[in-house]
Amino acid sequence: MASEAALYDEELAGGTHWSFVLRRGTILRLIDVAGGANVGMLFYNPSNPLERYNMPDTLKCQHTFKLTRGNCLYSDMGRIFCSVVEDSVGWHDTVGGNSTRASVAARWGHRSYQEARNERTQNGHDSFLVEAGKYGLGRRDLAANVNWFSKVSVADDGAMTFHPNHSKPGDAVALRFEMDTLVLLHTCAHPLDTSPTYPRRPVRYQLSQAEPVAPDDYCRNFRPENWRGFENNRLYHLEPPLPGAAPALPRPSEDAPPLDAPTLESARSADDAVYRQVVPAGEYWLHQVRQGQTLRIVDVEGNQAADTLFYAADDPFDRYSAVDTMREQRNVYLSVGTPLRASSGRILLEIVADTVGRHDTLGGACATESNTVRYALEKKTMHACRDSWLLAVGEHPEVGLTKRDIAHNINFFMNVPVTEDGGLKFADGVSGPGKYVEMRAAMDVWVLISNCPQLNNPCNAYNPTPIEVLIFDS
Ligand SMILES: [Zn+2]
Repeated sequence: MASEAALYDEELAGGTHWSFVLRRGTILRLIDVAGGANVGMLFYNPSNPLERYNMPDTLKCQHTFKLTRGNCLYSDMGRIFCSVVEDSVGWHDTVGGNSTRASVAARWGHRSYQEARNERTQNGHDSFLVEAGKYGLGRRDLAANVNWFSKVSVADDGAMTFHPNHSKPGDAVALRFEMDTLVLLHTCAHPLDTSPTYPRRPVRYQLSQAEPVAPDDYCRNFRPENWRGFENNRLYHLEPPLPGAAPALPRPSEDAPPLDAPTLESARSADDAVYRQVVPAGEYWLHQVRQGQTLRIVDVEGNQAADTLFYAADDPFDRYSAVDTMREQRNVYLSVGTPLRASSGRILLEIVADTVGRHDTLGGACATESNTVRYALEKKTMHACRDSWLLAVGEHPEVGLTKRDIAHNINFFMNVPVTEDGGLKFADGVSGPGKYVEMRAAMDVWVLISNCPQLNNPCNAYNPTPIEVLIFDS
């Protein structure tokens, strides 16, 4: 804990940004000076920035929708960037995403540097872009960020609610870094902030040295998954094991209320499709869908998960964004009428028919590394969705994508309910044989699907099966 005096102590004004590399064993303590603050934050491995904070892995590994004391923040490589060792707030937001120049201007008006100097209306996206640029990173490297001190809760029907002034003056959260980490941060308002005027709330931060992680460490023993995450860090640093075994905490119930979500049948007949392809489990499908065409994905035998990414064909670095899609419709579930948005805010496609009623975009894809955290360290070589995507981008260099461009996906046919107290469940049984979802492309898009090979999760009844993909002309 931060028992030692702070080695560095500084206040950042609201609406500003900064970055630093924090060494393993450093504690970063954030203090909300005046109440109602927001700190947007992203995390990277400075020796390989392709390894970055992964929101879905962080949430699903700990069956949580919020962050608080005990939680660990995971990279896509199954490692822990930092642990939340102190928290007086109780709920920090993980899915609200970021403000942009356009969203700030729409809410509070634009005040340029020319007219307002440093009282300009800075936004979260530009802040990250500037800080990322200092390390040779750019928009391809941005991902779903954490919003410290902010709360967005979810109702049974998926509706998202922002809680104004959630954090009080003097509230604090402390992060202990478990590996060297590049931290980008800004103090711009949460994108759902409802303040009548542009919020400019200062945040103080303190850096100190942590005690070594003890065998009974709260975060390490918070969940069995975190114990395995610390084991992945131990392999990374190649250190002797700490005494003790993984805690045998009971998993929360996976029961979910029966799904009462609207469905809509398609007017199209499969016979009219201009393209049909069966995709076996464990394989990928990479294809372009033209503006105006309609893409149908069929869960052929039921209970399958289609892990799907979308890219704008005119600018493949503008890609499907889970947080922008959820926040702009103020709902975490995808169903008929949902516009699927890119990180720029542009609409890529819109769901126009759906016989399932709900699709997930919180749980992310399975990966060999997250499997070690979620299930067992020995699962690391089992086939996983991200391997299929990596093979796809490796076999198709003409599309211009790499691991940098693999971000948070949609899980068609999956149900991942969020509870009111901020829990996350993995429920089964929303889909069935022959059920499908259809979406119309609002622009030319690349579609990259991994038909999930997961054998450790009830999402596909432990039995991965084929999907079929159809394309219809307008
Ligand atoms: Zn998968």
